[in-house]
Amino acid sequence: MVVAKKIQVYDTTLRDGCQSEDVSLAITDKLRIAERLDDLGIDYIEGGWPGSNPRDAAFFTEIKRVRLRHARIVAFGSTRRHGVKAAADRNLQLILRAETSAACVVGKTWDLHVRDALRIPLKANLEILHDTILYLKKNLDEVIFDAEHFFDGYALNPEYAIACIQAVAAAGVDVICLCDTNGGRLPDAIAATMRAARAAVQVPLGIHCHNDSEVAVANTIAGVLNGATQVQGTINGLGERCGNANLVSIIANLQLKLGYACVPDSRIKTLQETSRLVYELANITPHARQAFVGRSAFAHKAGLHVSGIQRNVHTYEHIDPAVVGNDRRVLLSELSGRANILYKTREFGLGADLSPDQIDTLLEELKRLEGLGYTFDGADASFELLMLRKLGLARDHFSFVSFRVFDDKWHEDQAPFSEAVVIIEGPDGRRTRTSAIGNGPVNALDSALRSALLPYYPALERMQLVDYKVRVLDDGSGTDARVRVLIESTDGSRQWGTVGLSSNVIEASWQALIDSIEFKLHKDNLKPRIARKAATRSAKLNGAATNGARADGKHRRVSHRADAAPKP
Ligand SMILES: [Zn+2]
Repeated sequence: MVVAKKIQVYDTTLRDGCQSEDVSLAITDKLRIAERLDDLGIDYIEGGWPGSNPRDAAFFTEIKRVRLRHARIVAFGSTRRHGVKAAADRNLQLILRAETSAACVVGKTWDLHVRDALRIPLKANLEILHDTILYLKKNLDEVIFDAEHFFDGYALNPEYAIACIQAVAAAGVDVICLCDTNGGRLPDAIAATMRAARAAVQVPLGIHCHNDSEVAVANTIAGVLNGATQVQGTINGLGERCGNANLVSIIANLQLKLGYACVPDSRIKTLQETSRLVYELANITPHARQAFVGRSAFAHKAGLHVSGIQRNVHTYEHIDPAVVGNDRRVLLSELSGRANILYKTREFGLGADLSPDQIDTLLEELKRLEGLGYTFDGADASFELLMLRKLGLARDHFSFVSFRVFDDKWHEDQAPFSEAVVIIEGPDGRRTRTSAIGNGPVNALDSALRSALLPYYPALERMQLVDYKVRVLDDGSGTDARVRVLIESTDGSRQWGTVGLSSNVIEASWQALIDSIEFKLHKDNLKPRIARKAATRSAKLNGAATNGARADGKHRRVSHRADAAPKP
């Protein structure tokens, strides 16, 4: 049996990743990410720079209480200052105070930086590098050196760049990680420079790339193919400017395509989960087209492709999506053929019972609706409901009676607010009238509808809208034009999309809202909660009871947004 060559995976999401302009992680977020990375099988987790801010220093205290099964926590810092003994350097002391068994220090290897940024003699920098490593190695188990700007330095002054890594090698460093700090190098340069460094030192090498030329992952792979045994990067490629090399893609490529061992085979399926958690805690919408783990990474649209993957998935997929925790998705569109419909009906568990006539009916209906301007790409849930309705399999959870929406603006300098009144007939035949205020008409309608349905279906409490998109269908009719509304909803464990279409934006939104709720009720097969007494009373009142309405005619206001309440 051939044993796969081990590549050490070094994550710097919590340090370099936090340099992203829109990312700020609290300590609790960092601890959760560290646990997730440990579970994925990451070897090193760089916790932060204890010398740079109190939050990073606090992380090292807190992480000691977390039981990690595999990963080693690393404290980051820079080499000692010029003219100060290593033992007296404040930054190095702070690294030691983090009480980790491993540290990573960054130092200069590009003569331009030594001359113009540090403004010290080239020889003095070599002493700094040597001393720093020597001192840290006396106090720590493992020391990694990040050779800042190594590829740029090597391109312009190869002798000096090599002398720098030889200085740290002589001091006993454990790994020298070559950095493309400005992200400007391409894979051929990375490969050649890596080979030159390989020939110059005996120490294991690592690779740390930034994505300014959009090739950070390719550069990292080139580094490994030319001798690097450690890869540094961040989850989802978070990082300053265009980001760092994306560890998700690096791990998937090295392990699935090139046969290296990065993380245990049993854990690689948690890549998508890890990617999602980091997005969620960083408060960034996941990138749909992200390789391997994005929602669109295995989404098939063309009918030809769909019939292909039904025969053999390898026809249009580079890997099995399940290996990295992702799913195959088949989209519906005017390109759809019978194959897409069949695939969908099977996915929804209807396939076996459908006759060819029924499939043709569905296909015709789909084409008719698409002709009107509906699109079911990204609105799978509406399509599933459409099929169920067309086939007579849909259950009625409630029925619509009426809605009204008011928009008010009271002062020029104050935002308008909306109020919605909704009347529905519940599964017990009882009419419910609710009202709600929102920061816009759709928000108000959503709140009013939800408060009417919650007594019957408490599980709707967990559901929320995560995205709302309006597209004007350009048919040249100006403000009469039809609009298409796409809504994305989630209940925490599942996310689904619904669509509505009308020349009235509120009506289009309402259709998408209703589908969104109907889908949740259908999918979870939720049975209504019906109070016996209420049912009897409502029978007596002949369906005229109200919920949330007061005798004096002033209805209860439900506002999900405190800031949306009017200030008279
Ligand atoms: Zn970096």
